[in-house]
Amino acid sequence: MKINENYSKLEGNYLFATVASKVNEFKATHKGKNIINMGIGDVTGPLCEAVIKNLNSAVLDMADAETFKGYGPYRGYNFLIEQIVELYNRRNISLIESEVFISDGAKSDCANILNIFGANQTVLIPDPVYPAYMDTNIMCGNKILFADATRSNKFLPLPNQNLNVDIIYICSPNNPTGATYNKNQLEKWVDYANEQDAIIIFDAAYKDFIEDENLPKSIFEVPKAKTCAIEICSFSKTAGFTGTRCGYTIIPKELTKCGVTLKDMWLRHQSSNYNGTSYIIQKGASAVFSQEGQQQIKETLNHYKENAQIMCKTMDEMGAFYTGGKNSPYLWFECFNSLNSWEFFDVMLNELNIVGTPGQGFGKNGKNFFRLTAFGTKENTQEAMNRIKQYF
Ligand code: PLP
Repeated sequence: MKINENYSKLEGNYLFATVASKVNEFKATHKGKNIINMGIGDVTGPLCEAVIKNLNSAVLDMADAETFKGYGPYRGYNFLIEQIVELYNRRNISLIESEVFISDGAKSDCANILNIFGANQTVLIPDPVYPAYMDTNIMCGNKILFADATRSNKFLPLPNQNLNVDIIYICSPNNPTGATYNKNQLEKWVDYANEQDAIIIFDAAYKDFIEDENLPKSIFEVPKAKTCAIEICSFSKTAGFTGTRCGYTIIPKELTKCGVTLKDMWLRHQSSNYNGTSYIIQKGASAVFSQEGQQQIKETLNHYKENAQIMCKTMDEMGAFYTGGKNSPYLWFECFNSLNSWEFFDVMLNELNIVGTPGQGFGKNGKNFFRLTAFGTKENTQEAMNRIKQYF
């Protein structure tokens, strides 16, 4: 019997645990302080009415033998897949139903997609980025290279022609930097991937925060992407599904490697590894695409976007260097007073009573940067910005 030795190479996930323990210690010794939490990457608004209505009626479907559902289709229910195909078609991206796979969220697909690739791949991961990409690649023993995102490239690294890679992760809008690629920049990645015969895993979890009509919400807005990219999407941030769990992954029929069509391989994977996202949840998710659902999720998204605007305005007034805030719920800024991100965290907590996330936790290039999120209330966001402006 052997265990997967690669797990011993994982670093402990101390970031949020350390943040929580520092906050708890502060709370215990400073009772009654109004601490504003802008560290969480989770949504705070409830599911919209249209989703709740569909969830309720799907529960009742399960109570009646006539409408009861057992195991569902491996790719997901057509009522939901058809709506996703329509959404892409409206944006002039042609898709067919068999290219869409309903999931229980982006995180599991980001990880499990690695199962259809061979061992010992060389993967290119942005630094800084959502830590799950790195952990899941360490677990399967892949070789990891980093695409350095820094102040000098505005946290949007471009391909390095001298590197040979097999799998490329792109997260746009990025967590934690909020930086979002334009079409021209994505074209560079797509050309590079096609030349290298590499795969792009495009994480579009935050696409619905994109306001600028010129910025791509999907990598398939770059036509040649269909021969190199897999797109992973989520209802989590779009419609408050972080606790409800639903997402979808798109693998174009044109995407073949070593003579194999990857969407067929993924279907084979899912049929052996996954018994589907629950019918009730898929029914709930389908309400997101209805007219009332669209209107209702827009109201919540607008609330977060307004918070992000308040944060950007403060940073502009202070002359700070930052990315995100626009087209993203995350604001990523350079720590003031030349502090590193943990020192800055301590000042923010102890002096300003604001909780944020030290950039170091997302990669070495985050060492002097800090992430604040727009998922709180407007009052708290404004109050936090007032405190920052006054103190610094
Ligand atoms: N991808 C990115 C970039 C994220 O930041 C997150 C969550 O914070 C996820 C994926 C996870 O999404 P889901 O809730 O759909 O699993």
